[in-house]
Amino acid sequence: MKFNIQETFNKELPADPIMENSRRQVEKACFSYATPKQTANPSMVHVSPEMANELGFSKEDTQSEEFLKIFTGNKVIDGTTPYAMCYGGHQFGNWAGQLGDGRAINLTEIEHNGKHWALQLKGAGETPYSRTADGLAVLRSSIREYLCSEAMYHLGVPTTRALSLALTGDQVLRDVLYNGNAAYEKGAVVSRIAPSFLRFGNYQIFAAREDTATMRTLVDYTLKHFFPELGEPSKETYAQFFQAVADATLEMLVHWQRVGFVHGVMNTDNLSILGLTIDYGPYGWLEGYDHGWTPNTTDRQHSRYRYGNQPNIGLWNLYQLANAIFPLIEEAEPLENVLEGFKTKFEEKYLDMMKSKIGLYEKDDLDQQLLNDLEENLQLTETDMTLFFRNLAEFEKDSNDVDSFLKIVEDAFYTPDEVTGEVLDKWTLWFTTYQTRLKKETLSDADRKEKMNKVNPKYVLRNYMAQLAIDEADKGDYALIDELFVLLKKPYGEQPENEKWFAKRPDWARNKVGCSMLSCSS
Ligand code: AMP
Ligand code: MG
Repeated sequence: MKFNIQETFNKELPADPIMENSRRQVEKACFSYATPKQTANPSMVHVSPEMANELGFSKEDTQSEEFLKIFTGNKVIDGTTPYAMCYGGHQFGNWAGQLGDGRAINLTEIEHNGKHWALQLKGAGETPYSRTADGLAVLRSSIREYLCSEAMYHLGVPTTRALSLALTGDQVLRDVLYNGNAAYEKGAVVSRIAPSFLRFGNYQIFAAREDTATMRTLVDYTLKHFFPELGEPSKETYAQFFQAVADATLEMLVHWQRVGFVHGVMNTDNLSILGLTIDYGPYGWLEGYDHGWTPNTTDRQHSRYRYGNQPNIGLWNLYQLANAIFPLIEEAEPLENVLEGFKTKFEEKYLDMMKSKIGLYEKDDLDQQLLNDLEENLQLTETDMTLFFRNLAEFEKDSNDVDSFLKIVEDAFYTPDEVTGEVLDKWTLWFTTYQTRLKKETLSDADRKEKMNKVNPKYVLRNYMAQLAIDEADKGDYALIDELFVLLKKPYGEQPENEKWFAKRPDWARNKVGCSMLSCSS
C-alpha cells in the first residue's frame, strides 16, 4: 500500500508546539499533533469500495493487516504526523469557546488522481481538544455515520465520505438518553475522508481570541488550497471567499431540503467551509413531511435545528463567519451583500428545486402558490415525503379520472382514514390545479417521470433502517450493514428486489429511541 504524502498542511499552518495529547487551551495554533490510541482487538466491519477506489487502494490493500492497523489508529503511516485541529463554535446559538477535534485525528493528507484528500479517524482516542470526554466513539453512532455519509454521496449531496468502519475491541461507556443509565457499548472507529475538514469554527476561534494574524494565515491557506481560482489574497478575494462559502452552503442546504435530511446539530463547528455535510450525529430523515421535525432530543424544546429552519440557520451561521473574518476586510458592506444575496438566491433555488420535485420546468407565476399549497397539504395529515414525491411521478396529465389522482400517492398517508372531508377537498383541489399546470409543460408523462425520478430518491436511510442494522451488528451480524450500503448506492434506481425498503416507517419505530429520538451521545 503506497501513500503519496502531502505535507503542505503541517508546513504552512502554525502548529501547537507541545507534542502530546493532554487537554489544554491551544493558542496561536491551527492544530496540535496527536497520536491515535492503540486498541485492544481491532477488526474491520466494512470498507467502502467506491471510496477505496478514489484513494487508489486495491481490494487486497483494504483486506491487509496494514490497512486494518492504519485505519483503527494502531499504526502511524511512515513519514506522517497525525494531528487534531483547533476550532471553536456556537452551539445552539451560544458561543462555546474552544471545542476542536476532541475525538477526530487527521492521519495525513494525500493526493490521488489530481484530488486532495484528508484522511481522518473518528473515535481514535483523546486529543488536546477532548475536554471532559474520552475521544472514543461507539458502534451505534459509527454505523450511522458510515452508512449515511456514503448514502448522501450517492444521492448527490455534498458530503464528507467514509472509507471504513471498524471495531476497536474496546468497551466504551455511554449514557444514551442522558438519564443516568450509562452502559458499556462496543467501541468503533470510522475513517472519514474529505478534501478538508475545516469548519466555520476553525476561523471563529481566532476571531474570538482577537488573533487576526493566525486567522489570516488560515484563510490564506484555505484560499490557496481550496479556492485557487480566486487568486492572491486581498480584501477583494477575502470577500469573494465568503461569497463562495455562502454559495456552497446554500447549495448543500437545498439538497438537504430536497432529500429530507435533517442534520440535527447545525452548530457552527459542524458547518464545513467547503459546504460539505459534516458530523453525522443525531441526524434523521423526514418520514412524515413536517417542517417542525427534528430527530435530536437535546433540541426538542426549541427545535432550533428542525427541518424547516435549516436554511435560516445556515444563514445565521454565515453571519457568525462574516463576523469572524471581518477583521481581514474591515468593511461590512461586501459581507452584508453576500448575506442579503443569500436570501434571494435561496428562494430562487428552493423554488426551482421544489418545482423539479413535482416535474415543472416552465415558468409560471402561480408556481409558488401551487408549492405553498402542496407543502401545506403534506402537513395536514402525516404524509411520507419519500413515497409521496416518488409516486407523484406516476401522475397522468391527461387523465379524466379525478378520483384516481389520490390513489397514486395514497401509500404515502400514515393515517388514510383522516384523508376525508376538508382534507380530501384540499387534496382534490390541489391535484386538479396541478393537472392544469402540467398541461403547460411540453414533456410527455414518461419523460417527466424520468426527470422526476432523478431528484426524488426511492431509497433513503430511514431512521429505523439504520437502527435495524445497529441491532444486528450489536449481535455480531453485519449482513444488514452491507445490504443497506449496497441498496443506497442506487437511491434513484428501481430495485424490484428491494421493494420492502420503499415503504412507510413501521409503527414500532414511530417513537423508538434510535429511530425518531436521538441524543448527541455517541
Ligand atoms: P459534536 O456535537 O459531535 O459535533 O461535538 C462537539 C464537540 O465535542 C467537538 O469538539 C467534539 O470533538 C467533541 N466531542 C464529542 N464527543 C466527544 C468524545 N467522545 N470525546 C472527546 N470529544 C468529543
Ligand atoms: Mg462536531
